[in-house]
Amino acid sequence: MSAPSTYALIQYAQRRHLAFTETVDGLDEGRFHFSAKDNLCALGFQARAGSAVLEGYRPPFDATPIHRLKAAGGQLVGKTTMDEFGFGSFSTNSAHGVPLNPFDPDRSCGGSSGGAGAAACLIPGHIALGVSTGGSISGPASFCGVVGLTPTYGRVSRYGLIDYGNSLDKVGLLSRSAASIAQHFGTIAGPDPKDPTSCAQPPLAGKGRMPSSLALPREAMENLDPAVRKAFQGALPVLRGMGVAVEEVSMPSLRFALPAYYVLATSEASTNLARYCGMRFGRREEEFNQHFNDFFTGVRSEGFGDEAKRRILLGTFCRMVGFRSRYYLKSLAVRQMLIGEYRRVFQEHDAVLTPTMPFLPPRFEDIRRMTPLEMYLADFLTIPPNLVGMPHVSVPCGYVDGLPVGMQVVADHWKEMDLLELAKGWEGAFLYTFPEVRP
Ligand code: GLN
Repeated sequence: MSAPSTYALIQYAQRRHLAFTETVDGLDEGRFHFSAKDNLCALGFQARAGSAVLEGYRPPFDATPIHRLKAAGGQLVGKTTMDEFGFGSFSTNSAHGVPLNPFDPDRSCGGSSGGAGAAACLIPGHIALGVSTGGSISGPASFCGVVGLTPTYGRVSRYGLIDYGNSLDKVGLLSRSAASIAQHFGTIAGPDPKDPTSCAQPPLAGKGRMPSSLALPREAMENLDPAVRKAFQGALPVLRGMGVAVEEVSMPSLRFALPAYYVLATSEASTNLARYCGMRFGRREEEFNQHFNDFFTGVRSEGFGDEAKRRILLGTFCRMVGFRSRYYLKSLAVRQMLIGEYRRVFQEHDAVLTPTMPFLPPRFEDIRRMTPLEMYLADFLTIPPNLVGMPHVSVPCGYVDGLPVGMQVVADHWKEMDLLELAKGWEGAFLYTFPEVRP
């Protein structure tokens, strides 16, 4: 039997796994194919960022990473499903369908770039643009058994990205292999005058230097599902076989990252969401002869999901006069402290190694029983590198009952190419497994 065509696989990923919100009608031969998370603006597609409030919004331009991939010969084949505005870890907060895990459709793809993870897994050679604020590339990469690169904050332009938290958002790539990520990363990276935070970056190294000494923080090994711990520990001898030393260290500040992140991320999100008032983008209320307060309240009550509303309340509270110094400013101090802690580790080690997610891809029935706090805790290993803006890569490192387990490597600012060198080396030492797809 001949291999299914890429187009058939895209259709399959959309229909059976809800990886895409929209796809193209046909593929251009001779171009490479990529997808974009639905919070990246692109010509010819709606950009709804997983939210009903943006229903019908068609941006008149391409986000810079999309523009650059197209200019390099790529065809944008679809927009991928996500948690509303990036709020979530399982893609269950999506107004446009919840993507189903390629290894087991009763389980989550992770979030918030869940559709990107599924597309990268189901379509060989596919390159998926994802976005991470607190782990939304690593998480889906881990649960969908693919490689996910989250660059340094500021490395890739955010122009055309629908903001979640402006000081945290990063556009990155997911794919079956680090080699194809390395091939396209140089295209999307680099300064862009349309995003000033991208302008002060050092040039991207042509070829990285493989990290040879990894620090494994003891604190990261607490609160893990035993199956994940075992699979992760099974990867250590393979790393050592590649000539990489792994040494246990202590990073006590890691445990402050999660609370600090949720204060900063929701503070920024609550201001970003103020622009969705039913007048400028997407959903529009035509009944103009009412009090402005009723008008905005109507649009926002109907358009936002529960998680978005929770974050507006939390973020607005954290920024209030009287509470600001207790929550927002203190969280900024924690962020600085954490940067210092990583820097100390980088004096003796090239990178920090941890598992990516603390448990296997969860079943939807179990997710429904989780409290918001339990959901937030799922990201305790992916949030620290995101909070400090350092690049990280998640790669598959084991399989438990046919489900993938991921490990995450964090390097100092701007060292993406070193991480990709390690991830490429890893692909030579550890064999990835992908589900068999019969469209
Ligand atoms: N799960 C985290 C959150 O909900 C991170 C999501 C993200 O990176 N967008 O904020």
